[in-house]
Amino acid sequence: MADQDVDVVIVGAGFSGLYLLHRMRELGVSTRVLEAADDVGGTWYWNRYPGARCDIPTTDYTLSFDPALETEWTWSEKYATQPEILRYAQFIATKYGLYSGIDFVTRVEQATWDDAAKRWQVRTDRGETITCKTYVMATGCLSVPKVPDIEGHDRFRGEVYFTSRWPHEGVDFTGKRVAVIGTGSSAIQSIPLIAAQAAQLTVFQRTPNFSIPAYNGPAHEERLARIAEDAATYRAEAKLSGGGVPGEPTTLSARAISEDERRARFEEMWAKGGLDMLGCFNDVLVSDEANEILCELIREKIRATVNDPETAESLCPKDHPFGTKRPCVDTNYYATYNLPHVRLVDLRKSPITTITETGIDTTAESLEFDAVVFATGFDAMTGAIVGVDITGREGRTLKDEWAHGPTTYLGVTTVGFPNLFMITGPGSPSVLSNMAVSIEQHVDWVTGAIAHLRDQGWATMEPTETAQQQWGVHVNDCANITLYPVANSWYMGANVPGKPRMFLPYVGGVGPYRLICDEVVEKGWLGFRISGPNGETCNDGKIRELMPDVGMVLQMMATLELPPIESMSADHAREFMAASSAMRPTGPAVGEIVDGTFPAADGSPLAYRLYRPASEGPHPVVVYFHGGGWVLGDHESDDPFCRDLCVRSNAVIISCNYRHAPEARFPAAVHDGMAALGWVADHAEELGGIPGRLAVAGWSAGANIAAVAAQLARDAGGPALVGQLLLTPVTDLGMGTQSYVDNGEGYVLTAALMRWFADHYIDEADRADPLASPLLADDLSGLPPATIITCQFDPLRDEGTAYARALAEAGNEVRHISARGHTHTSLTMVDMIISGAPHREQMGEALRGFFDAMVSR
Ligand code: FAD
Ligand code: NAP
Repeated sequence: MADQDVDVVIVGAGFSGLYLLHRMRELGVSTRVLEAADDVGGTWYWNRYPGARCDIPTTDYTLSFDPALETEWTWSEKYATQPEILRYAQFIATKYGLYSGIDFVTRVEQATWDDAAKRWQVRTDRGETITCKTYVMATGCLSVPKVPDIEGHDRFRGEVYFTSRWPHEGVDFTGKRVAVIGTGSSAIQSIPLIAAQAAQLTVFQRTPNFSIPAYNGPAHEERLARIAEDAATYRAEAKLSGGGVPGEPTTLSARAISEDERRARFEEMWAKGGLDMLGCFNDVLVSDEANEILCELIREKIRATVNDPETAESLCPKDHPFGTKRPCVDTNYYATYNLPHVRLVDLRKSPITTITETGIDTTAESLEFDAVVFATGFDAMTGAIVGVDITGREGRTLKDEWAHGPTTYLGVTTVGFPNLFMITGPGSPSVLSNMAVSIEQHVDWVTGAIAHLRDQGWATMEPTETAQQQWGVHVNDCANITLYPVANSWYMGANVPGKPRMFLPYVGGVGPYRLICDEVVEKGWLGFRISGPNGETCNDGKIRELMPDVGMVLQMMATLELPPIESMSADHAREFMAASSAMRPTGPAVGEIVDGTFPAADGSPLAYRLYRPASEGPHPVVVYFHGGGWVLGDHESDDPFCRDLCVRSNAVIISCNYRHAPEARFPAAVHDGMAALGWVADHAEELGGIPGRLAVAGWSAGANIAAVAAQLARDAGGPALVGQLLLTPVTDLGMGTQSYVDNGEGYVLTAALMRWFADHYIDEADRADPLASPLLADDLSGLPPATIITCQFDPLRDEGTAYARALAEAGNEVRHISARGHTHTSLTMVDMIISGAPHREQMGEALRGFFDAMVSR
């Protein structure tokens, strides 16, 4: 028998639980909030250590749902203290009459789904059971302290403190010998203040962290003025931003500017202080090289601040890129080590062996203390959720379901657990954002879901496997184009022994995430199975299948409202393409670039560009044909891609022109392709190549020429080719495949543009000629080994796949690489589409493989 039945149970009375309760009251659904603490505030209730404050300017760490709040509450400092933020939570609870809806000192221990009743049974540590239709975990990302994984952690007989469970009455360290274990944000904030009281302070550091000065002071005047003038616009900007704080991201790349410019930019950001340093350069979180530039600039600051060189060096982080562990924001942290009574123990040099009754033993010494402070962090993002014994449909437990890492749809729901919602759960921006903004967005979205169920008379809502699986893929795709996964951080679950390693938050940004959540609703709750007494509805599907950087580039192009190429004349289209190419990143440096000419099939001169590796030659040679639909492009147009191929394959790449349509229509380009192959084969030695070690490659129409040339060379008995690398090739000008339907619009190369290319290039009547459609050749046997790359969102996907299949069926050696989430043009966008890099590496590897295989033959 339940003690109580309500519509909604919310666990947690931090900002998430408070705002959700307010929304539920507005909705008119009966709600109980259950909270382990004896007051509201969550994080700001528990973390009362000295120096605890925000690291997001508090003008922004503000709930924005009610315009009245903007004027009735004013922050006193740029980064408000814990007591002030706690007062803010209490102010909200009082203003909206929320205290009456919360059961304090009540811990939820168990939640079980009753499928017959379509209700959750929630059990508390008071022995009470509450049943509800909807169960919401507003339990916080950083609310479960990690049990210190240190031998003897519970043996110390003196005073023991956890930053995350600080005594309400405060602690006086005057005259005491104090140990602080840990150097994360909590430690870095508290160390200067503990040092100000203690007789002796010893800090035990396992991993040094990057910390940026806060330069705390009065609240940001410019922001206050903007908020006073137009709070709604200011907050709307935050909601669509990357991290939940208004501001334009920089366009400065650390790699692209001079040393002086970098320093100037860095000093400007250092003088500002705070987490804005993450945006010092636009490539900080995606490029090792850019990140290391910034790391070294920060290390210089540490060395310049800390007097003792050995301590300074120990404090310099070297084992993770800046930003991949949450950077700290401090007041006088590094300078604290210059005080005579403060000492750093570098646990990398002498690890802790055990905590004793009286102190801490390391491999080097035994130290005695009066007090030990554990600033050892949290079981982040999942700890509080799996901390409750949750059982869903068919007896599935959440602990088991998440044994290999959390799986969610949008970070807010999970398969097998109907009507269970998580606020800022794993797979949502949460801890990578200003959480005030993320909390409001999640609460609003969950409120919408609850309202939808109620208004439409539905009983349950649960994500589908398909939607959840794809969301996991997308979350990983986003993480994998950044440096985040390389660090042993709590973002990766790496701080808790035995916790599965995976990147827990969603790094795609607060704004894009919000749009995704909205789109899910607009598409009829895409990816949710919603059921009730009258049946079931399910618009199953996947959201965001494009690689995140590909999606971003497409979105950026869409905002430019560029005219479609097929609306232009060929000359105009060529000018347009040349202008676009001028703006792209240049690609990697190669040993040498040489421009020259060779005779076309009709004897006229055609240009080539040769890319030579930096390694000692001679090298194998690849004849490369550029993309551009037989109409556009030239020997320079695929420059960044050719550089990349050259570096990755360690081969000479010769990008050879061919005559273009409509001036020279089919089969001129094919004949020029053969002319190029023949000429390069004949001149291999003088070009710095190894005679006889020749492969052919191409992209799109260029891959069409490469494929045809490989067939012609076979028929002509030479030149002998060791391999063919075909990137998104045209193999059948019938243009009737399903991928033309699926991907005919919206992915740069459209079906209409392909028709425009084909019309310029070749008469309808000739399109089935194998010289135009190599897939249609009668004999596909005896061809050089092929690597064919097709892209998921390419109209040409299916014909590339068909060619790979046909070549394999004809007995050829074939490797087919299917690039998930990519478009016809994305893999060649070197240094722009980072997610294409693994495929570019596969292409380099394929070329190396052709040549290596030839040597071993
Ligand atoms: P919480 O505030 O964590 O509240 C969750 C509540 O759920 C807690 O009160 C807890 O007692 C309760 N609870 C959990 N499990 C149970 C259970 N089983 N039964 C009953 N009750 C339960 N974010 C920022 O954006 N900017 C910052 O500057 C910032 N600074 C931070 C500083 C510190 C020291 C920490 C630890 C975190 C900080 N964060 C910051 C993140 C911060 O956690 C969020 O901003 C926000 O306060 C989270 O609110 P919440 O309501 O979602 O969760
Ligand atoms: P944390 O970042 O996880 O730091 C924990 C520290 O303890 C790390 O230095 C860790 O070292 C060390 N540690 C853990 N186990 C150890 C062991 N067995 N032996 C030695 N050292 C050990 O935790 P936190 O400082 O509490 O911060 C957590 C998050 O809360 C922050 O990243 C931030 O998001 C939020 N926070 C924000 C603020 C703010 O400024 N507003 C303040 C506090 C917290 P390793 O790195 O080697 O594991």
